[in-house]
Amino acid sequence: MTTIAPTTVPAQGAEEIQDAGHVDVLIVGAGVSGIGAAHHLRDQFPDRTFVILDAQDNRGGTWWTHRYPGVRSDSDLFTYGYRFKPWRGPSIAAGEEILAYLDEVIDEDDLDQYIRYRHRVTAASWSTEDRRWTVEVTRGDTGQQLRFTAGFLWMCQGYYNHTKPYRPRWDGMDRFQGVVVHPQRWPEDLDLAGKRVVVIGSGATAATLIPAIAGKADHVTMLQRSPSYYFAPPTTHELAVTLRALDIPEEWTHEILRRQYISQYHWLARTSLEAPDELHTFLIESMRPLLPEGFDVDKHFPPRYRPWQQRIAIVPDGDLFAVLREGKASIVTDTIETFTEHGIKDSSGEEIPADIVVTATGFNLSVLGDVAFTVDGEPVDFTERVTWRGIMINGLPNMAYVFGYFRHSWTLRVDLVSDLMGRLLAHMQDKGATMVVPTLRPQDTDMQLRPWSDPENFNPGYVTRSQDILFKQGDREPWTHMLEHEQELEILPEADLDDGTLVYR
Ligand SMILES: Cc1cc2nc3c(=O)[nH]c(=O)nc-3n(C[C@H](O)[C@H](O)[C@H](O)COP(=O)(O)OP(=O)(O)OC[C@H]3O[C@@H](n4cnc5c(N)ncnc54)[C@H](O)[C@@H]3O)c2cc1C
Repeated sequence: MTTIAPTTVPAQGAEEIQDAGHVDVLIVGAGVSGIGAAHHLRDQFPDRTFVILDAQDNRGGTWWTHRYPGVRSDSDLFTYGYRFKPWRGPSIAAGEEILAYLDEVIDEDDLDQYIRYRHRVTAASWSTEDRRWTVEVTRGDTGQQLRFTAGFLWMCQGYYNHTKPYRPRWDGMDRFQGVVVHPQRWPEDLDLAGKRVVVIGSGATAATLIPAIAGKADHVTMLQRSPSYYFAPPTTHELAVTLRALDIPEEWTHEILRRQYISQYHWLARTSLEAPDELHTFLIESMRPLLPEGFDVDKHFPPRYRPWQQRIAIVPDGDLFAVLREGKASIVTDTIETFTEHGIKDSSGEEIPADIVVTATGFNLSVLGDVAFTVDGEPVDFTERVTWRGIMINGLPNMAYVFGYFRHSWTLRVDLVSDLMGRLLAHMQDKGATMVVPTLRPQDTDMQLRPWSDPENFNPGYVTRSQDILFKQGDREPWTHMLEHEQELEILPEADLDDGTLVYR
């Protein structure tokens, strides 16, 4: 229950700011992370008050923002779904099915009453004296300014800017007579019938979108600067079919399939580090029989990086390859020289005709929801900070964030981080502490700082473009993150909350 008792207080500036009340825990974001966090919080601390604020007008985060044709998961839903709620559908799910699943969680946990949509958090200030965060919010519908206070801040804001997608500018774009769209802002009424579409990009979005629109458009060309890795598993795991035919409880099927996928992904992550060349060959060769006869695999498919240095895009049942075989789609691997009036000219001088250009070029990474943080009046410069286990940040009291896995389902980490948060809140209660601050110990102060993401380990464009605005990691636990799920499965449940890196007051 939130203690919402609106009163109007004078703002520091000219406008009035409405006092929106105090909660024990304030969650930012109503996506997969925020909804999962709220479930665990309610489950473990039914008496604590909380609220979930989201800038968007609906739940789902990523799955509400991305509603382009064919949008679907890359992960299996047995691990992308929560540990506590069985997934009943096919392994790979459409965006709408994921939203429906989240709706069920919201409904079953009665979370609707705690979610405030169109509430953008702009600033958060910690006061040690008051032992609380003051959170400034702007309402998207009325423009009204609100002020919440909270004992603990749980940032579940995801990793990218939902309103400003990454759109590179290319030469000649202004003279292009057709339509340019970004998948993050897909126009509902976009008519594809008879249109020649060029999709710029080779990642998961391009791989998902192309088979979904290839039957509707006249032709779709995937224009990639460099290839990505693909893998083509069946949409539904045969083990799920077998188990469901036995009419056993869905909880069992969920848990068994979850373990099956987890072990498969652990193997994949390990192999990508221990035997990258073999994995590369396996991934490329598994595509070859699915491609049209005579297709130039060596030109269009081997990526310039090791498997898993960027995400492997899933092509369920090989649907992308099917539209290539059917001639409805084709691939051009080249850089863009310029847009023309009626298409795109590539660097080899070929002009690809286009009525619609889709820029599947990715995201702008955002640091903790672009919220301006201050601690006791001092603005926080994240580039000078270090992560504590990829969950908290040194010098920021009573603040945790959720950052999921890149190489495994994001949600696996939502459950693990929530468990640790539960332990931490209970630990504070036992100690009678009202404040916990990750703090570098004397032996940590000269530790070597490393980029948030080691480019040798994981280096997609949206991460490398943004390293200079991100916080850092150290060279030792607990000042690291980007560990594999296989490691964290052991480490996080056992993490010592009294090792001196968390200071309680
Ligand atoms: C198309 C697509 C497909 C993907 N598929 C997979 C997949 O198959 N498997 C996988 O593991 N990952 C996948 N991902 C990554 C995906 O982002 C995560 O899986 C997951 O959805 C992140 O959930 P989240 O709740 O942490 O963040 P988000 O989904 O990004 O939601 C964050 C929410 O917080 C809100 N917010 C942010 N800042 C503020 C603020 N200042 N004030 C108020 N509200 C704020 C946003 O409006 C948003 O609604 C995919 C990403 C995309 C774009």
